Amino acid sequence: MTNGSVRVGIDVGGTKALGVALGDDGSIVAQDLRPTPRGIDSLEPLIDTLSDLAHSLGASGRLGVGAPGLVTREGVLRAAPNLDGVAEFEIGRLLSERLGHPVSVDNDATCAALAEWTLGAAIGTTDMMLVTLGTGIGGGIVANGELQRGAHGFAGEFGHMVVDPNGPPCPCGRRGCWERYASGSGLAMLARQAAAGRRLRSVVERAGGDPEDVRGEHVRDAALEGDGEARAVIDEFGRWVALGLANLTNAADPEMFVLGGGLAMGSELYVEPITRWFAELLYQPNLRPLPRIEFAHFGPLAGAVGAALLPEL
Ligand SMILES: [Zn+2]
Repeated sequence: MTNGSVRVGIDVGGTKALGVALGDDGSIVAQDLRPTPRGIDSLEPLIDTLSDLAHSLGASGRLGVGAPGLVTREGVLRAAPNLDGVAEFEIGRLLSERLGHPVSVDNDATCAALAEWTLGAAIGTTDMMLVTLGTGIGGGIVANGELQRGAHGFAGEFGHMVVDPNGPPCPCGRRGCWERYASGSGLAMLARQAAAGRRLRSVVERAGGDPEDVRGEHVRDAALEGDGEARAVIDEFGRWVALGLANLTNAADPEMFVLGGGLAMGSELYVEPITRWFAELLYQPNLRPLPRIEFAHFGPLAGAVGAALLPEL
């Protein structure tokens, strides 16, 4: 993989860094991953890991990096809740110095939006939003045929829209952020609440008997097998997802939402409740075309593919 025309992108996650190389036609010609160094007190091990991964994928002309946090328009990772000790990290400059070629950096969900818009589920749209439903919620925006970054690079932090000021605390310091309800951890919370009300017996058994151990996958698997109580939790979850999508539609009127992140697994289960609640919660649903809601074409690779597509800073 030393072909000079490959474009390499790396998506840096809290547990792993996932890289892809794209051929001239945008197809994925190679992929590889490395564990993200844990408990880093200097950022050197992270730079080592990323440059090793870039080399293994044949990055020779330039590299794109998607990072999980607030990335400034100059490519500085200002803060990243899932990477210990990271603040004001000049990831682009340091990697570029190490590799000897340009490195572009952007938020991971912004990269995923770029991938889905350019090569994936949202090809041909001019106004779309990508929402990643994972441990938290990330977002990316395309408007008027352009990827949007906002005045400072921080556009698309949909997960911290407050949907209930009296809701559960969020690691960001506020209460009732959308991602407390509509992410993978939100689904688990809704399930634990149901289990505490003595519902969801089969799901609790699946989790080993303790309601506190219930995770999103347990609810999903039980619902896929037709468990009525699990389906009721999925329906409630779908309502929370739809509430945020309705708010975003009121703000930006997209023609399409692409849903990505870990919850895209089992997507057939979520589409019906999300779509039904969305039509119910939207402002003036009878006077407008409803945005399409589809799941990400690139699945967990969307962030890395989009990173490879980033323009040079
Ligand atoms: Zn928050």
